[in-house]
Formats: sequence, C-alpha cells, structure tokens
Amino acid sequence: MKSVIIIGAGVGGLALANMLASAGMQVSVYEKNSGPGGRAGRFDAEDFRFETGPSWYLMPEVFRHYYDLLGKDVNKQLDLVRLDPGYKVTFHDGESLLISGNEKQDYETFESLEPGSSIRLKKYLHQSAKTYDLATKYFLYNNFDSILNVANKDVLYAGPKMMRFAGKSLHGNVKKYFKNPKLQKVVEYPAVFLGASPYSAPAIYSLMSHLDFKQGVFYPQGGLYEIIESLVSIGQELGVTYHYNSPVQKIITNNGLAVGVKLATHDQHADVVVSNADMHFTETKLLPSPLQTYPQKYWDKRIPGPSAVLVYLGIKGELSNFEHHNLFFTKQWKQNFTYIFKNKFWPSPASMYVCVPGKTDKSVAPKGHENVFILVPGPAKLGQTKNQLNELADQYIAQLSEVAATPDLANRITYKKVYGPGDFAQDFHAWQGTALGMAHTLRQSAMFRPQNKSKKVKNLYYVGSGTVPGIGIPMCLISAELVYKRLVGDKTSGPIKSINKL
Ligand SMILES: Cc1cc2nc3c(=O)[nH]c(=O)nc-3n(C[C@H](O)[C@H](O)[C@H](O)COP(=O)(O)OP(=O)(O)OC[C@H]3O[C@@H](n4cnc5c(N)ncnc54)[C@H](O)[C@@H]3O)c2cc1C
Repeated sequence: MKSVIIIGAGVGGLALANMLASAGMQVSVYEKNSGPGGRAGRFDAEDFRFETGPSWYLMPEVFRHYYDLLGKDVNKQLDLVRLDPGYKVTFHDGESLLISGNEKQDYETFESLEPGSSIRLKKYLHQSAKTYDLATKYFLYNNFDSILNVANKDVLYAGPKMMRFAGKSLHGNVKKYFKNPKLQKVVEYPAVFLGASPYSAPAIYSLMSHLDFKQGVFYPQGGLYEIIESLVSIGQELGVTYHYNSPVQKIITNNGLAVGVKLATHDQHADVVVSNADMHFTETKLLPSPLQTYPQKYWDKRIPGPSAVLVYLGIKGELSNFEHHNLFFTKQWKQNFTYIFKNKFWPSPASMYVCVPGKTDKSVAPKGHENVFILVPGPAKLGQTKNQLNELADQYIAQLSEVAATPDLANRITYKKVYGPGDFAQDFHAWQGTALGMAHTLRQSAMFRPQNKSKKVKNLYYVGSGTVPGIGIPMCLISAELVYKRLVGDKTSGPIKSINKL
C-alpha cells in the first residue's frame, strides 16, 4: 500500500486525505495547531460558539459531488437549511434591501431601485449561469495538463466571449447592466470572496452571482465547522491518522524526490508528500532554494488577497435590525478597495460583513444573547500592534452601531475578541497575514495560479486555497479532487465519476 503524508489539516488537506484513503492509500495528516480546520475553525467562549472564518455555504452541488464520491449523502452528513432571505445589504444612507434567492422577489427589489433593472438582472444572471456551467464543466476541475481538455467544442465556441470577459474587470461588466451604484455593489461584492477587488477581478467572475441569486445561500445547523467534523469523522472511518501539535519543519527530499517530512521529534517517511500549508510558506520555508518552484521573487510580483480585522462579539439581548448574513457598504466603495490593495491603509469608514448565526441556529449563543462576527477586509500587511488592532475594532463597532441603527451596541457587549493579520500569520503561516491567500486576479487564476504539483520535486503536490482552483471551501474540495486526478493520471477537464484504487 502506498503511503502519503499531508501537511496541514485545513479543508483541502482533510478532503484529500479522505479521497486518498478511499483510493487505498495509507494517509497521515500532520497539523501544527491543536485541532483540524485551519482557517475554517471554531472556538467556544462564555457559552458562545464562534466560527473563526467561513460562514457562507455556497455551491451546494460541489459538496454533494464530493460526498457522493465517498459514498456519503451530504444531507445525512450536514443538516442544511436554505436561508431566506439569503442576506441583507445596508448602504451608507441606511437604505437596505434583502436578497432572497427567489428570482421574482429579487427582480422586484432591483426594479424598485432602478426602473428597467429587473430585465437586466435577468440577463446578467443568465450570463452568470452560462459562465458558471462552463467553468464547472471545463475549468474548475481541470489541471490544465492537456491541451485537449480545453480544446473541445463548447469551450472553443465560448472561447472568444470568455476572452472578452477575461480582458474586462468585473466592475466594467457590471456597470453595463446597472447604473444605480447601490445595485452595482450588490453584484460586485462577491469579488471579495475571491480575495480580489471588483476593479481588478476579471468579468468572468460575474458567475459568482449565480451562486447567491440562483443556487441560494445555505447553512449547516451547528455551523460551518460541522463540515470539518464530518470530514474528520469520514477520515477516521477510512483509517486516516491525524497528528495535531505536529508542525512540519522541512520536506525531506532525496535526489529530487519527496520522501517524507521532518518533525520536531523525528523524520517521517512516505511515498508521496502533499502540502496543504500556506503555499508561500511551503515553497519558501519548507524547501531549500534550488527546489522551490515558487521562490520569493515569484511572490514579490504577486498580489495577496485581503487580510481582515475580525471581531467576535457576545451581545446581550436581541439584534432586531440584522439578518443571518449582513453586508454594510460605504459610500467610499472604490476608495476602500484602493486603500486595501494599493495604499495598504485600513479604511474607515469601511464596508463590512456581519454574521449573526443565532438568527438560524439557537445553539451558538446562550438564551437572550446574540453571537456576532464582524469581518472588515483590509490590507495584507503585517506590523500593527494589538492596541492599533483594538482601536480599529472599536471604530468599526461604532460605525456598525450607527449604520445598523443599534445605538446601544457597544454597551451590550459581554464578550469580545479581536483578530488580525498578525494572527493569520502566526496561526496559519499566512503570507503577509492574508486571510484568504493569493487574490484571484486574471494573472493569478486557473492556469496562472500556482499549480498543484511541484516542478522541481517529484512526488510533491499542493492542495488548498493557495493552488488551483482557489479560495473558499468548495474550491478546496475541488483542489483535493485535482490532486487525486494528478495521482491517477486523469487528464479530463470535468469532475470525476468515482474514486479508483491507487
Ligand atoms: C475570515 C474568513 C472568512 C471566510 N469566509 C468564507 C465563507 O464564508 N465561505 C467559504 O467557502 N470560504 C470562506 N473562507 C475561505 C475558506 O475558509 C478557506 O479558503 C479555506 O478554509 C482554506 O482551506 P485550506 O485548505 O487552504 O487550508 P488552511 O485553512 O489554510 O489550513 C492549512 C493548515 O495547514 C497548517 N499548517 C501550516 N503550516 C504547517 C506546518 N508547517 N506543519 C503542519 N501544519 C501546518 C495550518 O495550521 C492550517 O491548519 C473564509 C476565510 C476566512 C479567513
């Protein structure tokens, strides 16, 4: 039986562990932290249960496909509910709208802000659906290791349009459809999910609107960490071994072949090594210079996705002006992105995302309280002190209190924790403290993103958000499938049908 070591128990590492164990490999996962999940973590404090990172369950068919491959029913693994409304958007002037994921209702909402926009939303979503379909069939599950798998009829037919899309920014595309700046923001904000600005993300990412408007926004009862627990429990059934508090210090090579990893206590050998640790860290810290496919000079020319100030709050009493997912957009929309990606300043006022999961799930906060998660995207840049971070957090809480018309918010805080770029760097070895990893600009997507196979070390692979296809839990599940495809030599462009023995 072939053995594999996976460095890191993030979503990508856990997902791949299951696929390879199911293919008959002997799988060991080494994780530096005390438990699994990586950026998709969870912690309990004073009877509140907080998710550390992800809170949007999107692309449900990607989860279904992944679980199907393992012979599991996603609906038995996770207690999924579709949120209605999907989310609430509040603008700088206090005006707000709900996106329901129900077409008729959302057309009416758009029409009420800009006459004629419902027809254009319909067209925009039609285009998003077509692009999304093409992406899942030919691009997302593609290792781009054969020209044949992109040179098929559908892709060649859609190619010219895709190229036009690729050359234009998401914002450039959106403003052709909608004049009202508020509506523009509603369809542009998903660029942030991809760690990018709508002014630099390619128009092709308009496919993101297919997710929230058409497929809907879901929530697994208990929280997104239920995904991690389910992945680990399947891994345990399949015989995967997990080693926590076990940071890998080096990838051991022999004549250009990965043969194992160096741990604090001993060297561990295996036939294949896969790193799920941050890509920049893996390449520049776990390998010697001559064996780095992506050395520091590669990273010096790349753009990290944003970092974030995260504020976890326990709040006494109910929050009546909030839904489960809440987006607050500032008037200084474009300037916010310039600050984050170019000037590297923390914006204030800032656009922010606020999650109040207790609206759907009573298990996350004690009775009579709300669990609140505030995410303010900011520059991936290290160096601020804890005091500076706390000051920023207080400014954002004050801003939220005003724009959400909840004047007593600060006085009702019973628990507070602030988390920032330095924490991402310390906890996950995150490149420049980015929360999400490399931004999805055109030059950093698909075949231009770091690939999942080392060009310098045989039998060394990469999985997770740092490689293809990219950022987000569904993408990390797909990244696991892409490594599996590499290992079995499957060069097709779409999702696989089953897992074969390796
Ligand atoms: C604030 C925030 C909000 C998000 N919101 C969403 C959302 O709503 N929906 C969504 O789908 N996605 C969301 N994401 C993105 C999603 O969480 C990530 O893309 C995904 O979890 C990344 O998984 P990964 O496989 O890349 O591994 P990571 O999470 O990066 O984990 C890698 C693991 O490797 C470990 N490691 C590093 N170095 C070593 C070493 N030397 N030895 C051993 N182990 C090591 C780390 O400790 C870590 O556990 C969000 C992310 C953040 C941070």
